[in-house]
Amino acid sequence: MDHIVIIGNGISGVTLARHIRKLSDKRITIISAESDYFFSRTALMYVYMGHMKFEHTQPYENWFWKKNRIDLMNGFVEKVDTDSKKLLLKGGSTVSYDKLVIATGSKPNKFGWPGQDLKGVQGLYSKQDLEMLEKNAPNNKVCNRAVIVGGGLIGIEMAEMLRSREIPVTFLVREKSFWNGVLPAGESAMINEHIIEHHIDLQLDTNLEKIIADDNGHAKAVVTDKGETIECNVVGLTAGVAPNIDFLKDSGIEIGRGVKVNRFLETNIKDVYAIGDCAEQHEGIGSRRPIEAVWYTGRMMGETLAQTICGNPRKYNPGHWFNSAKFLDVEYQTYGWVFSERGKKENEQHFHWRHPEEKICITVAFDKDTNQFLGINTFGIRMRHEIFDQWLTENKDIDHVMTYLKDANFDPEFYNLHEDAIVAKYNSDYNKNINPKKKSWKRIFSIA
Ligand SMILES: Cc1cc2nc3c(=O)[nH]c(=O)nc-3n(C[C@H](O)[C@H](O)[C@H](O)COP(=O)(O)OP(=O)(O)OC[C@H]3O[C@@H](n4cnc5c(N)ncnc54)[C@H](O)[C@@H]3O)c2cc1C
Repeated sequence: MDHIVIIGNGISGVTLARHIRKLSDKRITIISAESDYFFSRTALMYVYMGHMKFEHTQPYENWFWKKNRIDLMNGFVEKVDTDSKKLLLKGGSTVSYDKLVIATGSKPNKFGWPGQDLKGVQGLYSKQDLEMLEKNAPNNKVCNRAVIVGGGLIGIEMAEMLRSREIPVTFLVREKSFWNGVLPAGESAMINEHIIEHHIDLQLDTNLEKIIADDNGHAKAVVTDKGETIECNVVGLTAGVAPNIDFLKDSGIEIGRGVKVNRFLETNIKDVYAIGDCAEQHEGIGSRRPIEAVWYTGRMMGETLAQTICGNPRKYNPGHWFNSAKFLDVEYQTYGWVFSERGKKENEQHFHWRHPEEKICITVAFDKDTNQFLGINTFGIRMRHEIFDQWLTENKDIDHVMTYLKDANFDPEFYNLHEDAIVAKYNSDYNKNINPKKKSWKRIFSIA
């Protein structure tokens, strides 16, 4: 019987194992050095914030794995020998495989800053990082200030976590406005305001120069490229992530920034595959990037590869882009493509509406010649994924989206408060006369 060995027990590796088990009787082993059992990485912040215990981040009971004959192994893979189909683990033991899946995720970027390896300097990625933060920043007596370097989704999460214990936070962001490589200007500006209102010292257009040590080799201050010295006890490095693949250096497996894979998630070596954050498509699919370090991508890749491994070769076909995240207490969802000013396509036009007082806004991207709907970002409003997916597939135009926006609403009571205002602004911006309507759910899906 084929032995499938998966390195990594994150969402991609675990989804793959579960689906292989649904489809077959193959022997499955998952190896991970991080934790005995799968946990939800996206929920780590809530453990520090006291909303849940670590055990609650584990979606499956501990007995689940044995019952489903998925062997779990705690170990760090140091080397892959694809000729003998063997893995060498730290400590000297070996594991043989028939098919190998690399699902080793990401690691936080470090850009060679002086002082980046001092005590008190850390990323926020793993269970061990969470434990380290608990030690480094248990409260605002031990940690009088933290400096976070890098303005992305993980940076803002770390700021929220530390603020939940009333630890003063300075947030160094290289860009002139928060996450403006991804978000259009209006949204990025709204999040800047929101960060400042949460008493986070946001320093835009500012880079880290170096971290200074005290006599015990612990971080005591950072120096910025503006010449400012900021005293602190903790430095959070959240300047993006990179595929966690250093151990594959001499394996013969083709590496770019990640493990290079084709649409079947196969590497250049027979019987070796890669999925999740560490996988790099030879070319981005549609407008998607070759590496997507997001939860849903890992899950979709795991489901797809299970089919191929179980004898039903299937191409990875991610469909329309979507994602969700949180900026402090503001929920963000995106469907299709809404590019920032930096990445905007030639024909892409944006309709933007923002609530006059609250941190609620939407941006709809459409083609300025054909009016085709290209994507939507929402902040503070929850939308239905299936509806936008359908509208994108059917190439609906923006007038259709505006007319039936109510159908996409997840929370009608709340959303109705804003709908008239959104459509009124659209009518005024583009000299239109749209009257919002609502179809019944039954009708929408009978058409589909
Ligand atoms: C704090 C935080 C918040 C996030 N929030 C969101 C969010 O809101 N939305 C979203 O879409 N995404 C979010 N992400 C990203 C998302 O969590 C990742 O895309 C996802 O977890 C990647 O899953 P994966 O299975 O590819 O890898 P991982 O979850 O990284 O799992 C890989 C595992 O492999 C192990 N491993 C690596 N190398 C070896 C080795 N040599 N030997 C043995 N084991 C090894 C690692 O220790 C790890 O346990 C967040 C990430 C973080 C860190």
